[in-house]
Amino acid sequence: MSKTHLSDSEVQQYVFHTFSCSEQLIDHITHCEDCRRKAQLYSVLLDGVNQQNRPVFEFSLSGLVMGQLPPAKTKNSFDNVFIFCLITSAVFLVCIVFYRIGSDLFQVVSTITPMVVYLLYTIASFSFLFLCVAMYVEFQRKMKTLHFS
Ligand SMILES: [Zn+2]
Repeated sequence: MSKTHLSDSEVQQYVFHTFSCSEQLIDHITHCEDCRRKAQLYSVLLDGVNQQNRPVFEFSLSGLVMGQLPPAKTKNSFDNVFIFCLITSAVFLVCIVFYRIGSDLFQVVSTITPMVVYLLYTIASFSFLFLCVAMYVEFQRKMKTLHFS
């Protein structure tokens, strides 16, 4: 047993995290009346805190916080018009292709060589992999931002 008593943090570690304490610390508390009494006081304090009712706000905290947040940004109308024109053009081009070669479509598809199919499969696989990695990196960056703010 050492001659000096344990510090408050060591006694708190014994009370709150007994399994992570060193044997020297446990041995001191076992044999020292003063430190054991201190640990018992912390235990009583911990029991009292655990028996307290959880505080409840008398107002809606989420409503108060949400009211102070800035409104979400909406895309301006030019972006929506551009996307609409792009989709309309794509649909129009697909319709033209089906109209022009609709009767010979099966013959066109059957002439695609396996090499082209493998090439398209490889490109799609790498694109998918790249997008997954980019999404994961973006997620990690946002989580890091949230963690430090
Ligand atoms: Zn002691």
